[in-house]
Order: sequence, then C-alpha cells, then structure tokens
Amino acid sequence: MRRALFPGSFDPLTNGHIDIIKRSLPLFDEIIIAVLRNPDKDPMFTVEERRDMIQEIVLPMSTENCLLTVDFFSGLTAVFARNKGATAILRGIRTVSDYEYELRMALMNRHLEPDIETVFLMADEEYSYVSSTLMKQVFKLGGDVDGLVPAVVAEKMREKLGEGE
Ligand code: ADP
Repeated sequence: MRRALFPGSFDPLTNGHIDIIKRSLPLFDEIIIAVLRNPDKDPMFTVEERRDMIQEIVLPMSTENCLLTVDFFSGLTAVFARNKGATAILRGIRTVSDYEYELRMALMNRHLEPDIETVFLMADEEYSYVSSTLMKQVFKLGGDVDGLVPAVVAEKMREKLGEGE
C-alpha cells in the first residue's frame, strides 16, 4: 500500500494544489490531503471549512487505483504521517525560496521519521506563481482569481468577503 500524506494549510485550496494532487494519482494508492491546524496563521477559512471544500472538489477525482481522502491535524507532520501509515509526504515546489524551505522541512522530517520519504513535484509553470496567500490578497483588493482557484473556492471567498463587510 503506497499511502502518501499531502499536508498544507490549503487556505484556500488553489488550482496549483489540485495540479499536484492530479499528477500524484498514478504514483500512490491513497493520498491523504491533510489540513494543518496552524495557530500562528490568521486564516480566511476554518479547518472545517477547508476540509469541506476539499472534500467537495477533490474527492471525486479519486481513481480506480488511487483513493483521495481528507483529514486535518495539528502538531508534527512526520508524526501524523506515521500514525496514518503513510510512507511518503507529498510537497510541491514553485520557486527557489520554496526549495530552501522545503529542503529544511524534508531533512527535519527525515530526522524525525527516517522511514518516511518526502516526494516533491515541481509546480506546473501555469501555476508556479499561485499561492493561497497571493490569491487572498488579490481577491480582497477586487482582483480576478478565476482560473487560479476552483469555482467553489472563489464563491466561498466572495461569501467570506461579504461577511466581513
Ligand atoms: P504550507 O503552509 O504547508 O506551505 P500550502 O497550502 O501553502 O501549505 O502548500 C501546501 C503544499 O502545496 C506546499 O508543498 C506548497 O509548496 C504546495 N503548493 C502550493 N501552491 C502550489 C502551486 N501553485 N503549485 C505547486 N505546488 C504548490
């Protein structure tokens, strides 16, 4: 059983995340998309809202050979991965700065859980500038993020913005 954990904030899910998930489908039997409950960040969506959006958008992308599931966690990613029986942590790399950060995280996770490999996929050039943070910034300033986030996410962002007014 090749089970991978794809951990992240997913605040919100973008088409960049979806691209990584779709391209990983042939590589694993199961991918758990794990939403991090991160107390340091001031999120736009609660972890429950993020989980619900991911379930709606991503779960139907499961194939005969790869099951997609969604979960959330707090604490150490490597420990959560082990508890879930994952042998790989899946991450995406967009830029050199991503690489530097991801390298440190991967080495730390290997130190903590030597049997779990971090697997990196390079971002598609179409989405290499797409980050959840940038999507939120642009959206709040009235910019168009259609095509960069799923339609369901854009709709929920509009609702959030309405709530805040
Ligand atoms: P985190 O706070 O853990 O970085 P994110 O939700 O921002 O959580 O990202 C989760 C993972 O998805 C990270 O490995 C990140 O590099 C990757 N990722 C984010 N956006 C993209 C994108 N546009 N293309 C490819 N990978 C991406």
